[in-house]
Amino acid sequence: MASLPPRTERALAEIQARIDGAWDDYRSQRASPADDVELARSILERPNEHDWPLVDAALDRLVCTECGSRLGAGPRGCPECDFADGFRFAGREIDRPGVPPGNEHATRVSSAVLRTRHRWPGAVVRGNELFLPLFLEGQMPTREEQERFDAAVKRGLPAGIDFSRAGTFAELVELASHRA
Ligand SMILES: [Zn+2]
Repeated sequence: MASLPPRTERALAEIQARIDGAWDDYRSQRASPADDVELARSILERPNEHDWPLVDAALDRLVCTECGSRLGAGPRGCPECDFADGFRFAGREIDRPGVPPGNEHATRVSSAVLRTRHRWPGAVVRGNELFLPLFLEGQMPTREEQERFDAAVKRGLPAGIDFSRAGTFAELVELASHRA
């Protein structure tokens, strides 16, 4: 699997820390110690009552009985993983203070794609590599920026450009629309 730009690696590490932190917090609030597998299963019984990082943490702690991957992270077409992956998107998405509405949803979808890259088309992965660091900074593309970026991906992104240096969605679209 192709390596990720350093900014994306850092963003993903930040997301992983949120996921693991959510798990540790939830676990430490239990009156009596519970088995990790039982705890994870109980979270997935009612994913809509928990914030998404905890739901992702629960999936990480279970193993798919069909393909042996982390639950929900196996190859697309594994019925158990496809079913479990749906739970990922039932978790609550509460926007952090000071970010535009929908930023948490964008962050979560983007991080889900990047954490299970083999489950997604290459172009989707490529876009989210560039988006996730910007989402984490609280940025969101305008509809026009999103459409221009998608159109550029369809045409084929220009070669030889380090898109990960874009600090804003406007810069990213500018780079992506560059014609050789
Ligand atoms: Zn599976």
